[in-house]
Amino acid sequence: MERIPVAGPWITQKEIEYVKDAVENAWYGNANMYHERFERGFAEYVGRRHAIALPSCTSAIHLALMALGVTSGDEVIVPDITWIASAAPVTYVGALPVFADMEPDTWCISAQSVERLVGPKTAAVIAVDLYGNMPDYDRLESVCRRHGLRLIEDAAQAAGGSYKGHKAGSIGDISVFSFHGSKTLTCGEGGMLLTDDENIYRRCLFLRDHGRSSGSKMFYNDEVAYKYKMSSMQAALGLAQLERIDELTARKREMFEWYAEALAGTDGISLNAEKPGTLNTYWMISILLDPVLGIAKESLMSALSAHKIDTRPFFYPLSSLPAYRDNPDIARAAHENVHAYGLSPFGLNLPSALCLSRTEVEYVADKLRIELDSLRKKG
Ligand SMILES: *Cc1c(COP(=O)(O)O)cnc(C)c1O
Repeated sequence: MERIPVAGPWITQKEIEYVKDAVENAWYGNANMYHERFERGFAEYVGRRHAIALPSCTSAIHLALMALGVTSGDEVIVPDITWIASAAPVTYVGALPVFADMEPDTWCISAQSVERLVGPKTAAVIAVDLYGNMPDYDRLESVCRRHGLRLIEDAAQAAGGSYKGHKAGSIGDISVFSFHGSKTLTCGEGGMLLTDDENIYRRCLFLRDHGRSSGSKMFYNDEVAYKYKMSSMQAALGLAQLERIDELTARKREMFEWYAEALAGTDGISLNAEKPGTLNTYWMISILLDPVLGIAKESLMSALSAHKIDTRPFFYPLSSLPAYRDNPDIARAAHENVHAYGLSPFGLNLPSALCLSRTEVEYVADKLRIELDSLRKKG
């Protein structure tokens, strides 16, 4: 038996044909045809006016912060529980990340925690739709409005989801996606930046193309900037995946149901939540072990690995990572972010790759129950 992968895409003949067509035809006058179709299609799907295809979500967040004027001396509030890519660009622009706690039910950034952290230097908030779920955006938007903060929605893990009728990736001043190979919709590597604001859009186009405006004199740059572009082959792959987005997200939701049924009645674990009004697209189907069991995620992960089952740890609080050892906010975060620090040690992502069959999911659930029982007895 092959190892059961934790993440991975669902590629069909359509993707292969689009990429083949791009390799053959997307040159000369047609060099941008797939970018244009992918950007237009994505903006329409999400319901935003403008979209820019980029090499990664990390570069999208970097551009977003620059376009919003976030700079050295500013603070940006980020979730303590997320992939570091959500927060790393804050450092690129010379600003300071400040770490907000998560909500215990959605696992997303807590608006209440954000509000407590707002200070005179706060410029922006980056909210993350963690594992395909959605934070309390009504409350986050009202905090941002009251304090004059910009809001970036990091929807990298939530393609296809929605919050109270708004598609994931349509919220805030700027929203961003990742199309890394692990994500629900993939280009291999890639990202997207979306906004309704014409000025932000123009500024991002300028900054991502070495500081030149369209129509300006050739090789005559106004500012030193960046080169952030994806290739036509990636855009073609992304377009094919976008045309299958309903199928991709339906499979994730179906897989969640397979797990939920197979694990029903198992004591001491909880799965991803879905609040009324939210459509969770379960990028990573995950469990939290009841902390009273005293079973660390790492011990369950290695037990499952022996059955050729790959899992991932629930994100460690960013404020606990060596990367942020010099950040002045970490002692406060470790003390106040009780949900992030209290729950992260007991969470893991189960295999959620789009290629998995129901039989494989049931195998994982079976081994999970057996290993959990034996760790319980040892504990
Ligand atoms: C994957 C991911 C990113 C980074 O995406 P890249 O395309 O790898 O730069 C950013 N934020 C979140 C929440 C992610 O899951």
